[in-house]
Amino acid sequence: MKNLVLLGPPGAGKGTVAARLVREFGFIHVSTGDMLREEVNRNTPLGQLAKGYMARGELVPDEVILSMVRQRVDAQQGVLFDGFPRTRAQAEGLERFTCVDLVIFFEVDEEEVVRRLSSRRICASCGAVYNLVTQPPKVPGKCDLCGGELIQREDDKPEVVRHRFAVYMKDSAPLVAYYQSRGLLHRVRADRSPDEVFQAIAEILRA
Ligand SMILES: [Zn+2]
Repeated sequence: MKNLVLLGPPGAGKGTVAARLVREFGFIHVSTGDMLREEVNRNTPLGQLAKGYMARGELVPDEVILSMVRQRVDAQQGVLFDGFPRTRAQAEGLERFTCVDLVIFFEVDEEEVVRRLSSRRICASCGAVYNLVTQPPKVPGKCDLCGGELIQREDDKPEVVRHRFAVYMKDSAPLVAYYQSRGLLHRVRADRSPDEVFQAIAEILRA
């Protein structure tokens, strides 16, 4: 069973496609963001350690992330790494305890990401997520589930999205180059429907 890494900027649609890959191919889903939140909520020793860094506004160090990921890796089952590794140091650390077989880079341009994220709205009461283009509420500005007010997150405002996109592309460039040089990188056009992106990745996995 293969181990797969998904890379791509926020708004590229990794989450939706990752969920379907997990369902249809039986991957263990390793999302370091979700795992960190879980460790913090359960107040584990690792969670307490991570919380300290986050409270000081610092990044959780690579060694902490790596030991958390290591607990989840299973030699018998393929792993889908989502939002990890973020740096070349993390990529090299990962290879000390497991191999990476395939890396998928979700290619999408800045304007498409701005279009997608700036049309996103969140219910201020229950947190339900809408998209004014692809998944609008029945009544404009109101949550279908609870009637709460729909708001735009600060992170989804166009100027903030442009900044996040630029930061991602700059920070991920060394990682992308690293996987490219190892012959593991596959670029997949992500300016298509989640179904088309899924089919393109499924084809690579079956090859
Ligand atoms: Zn709601």
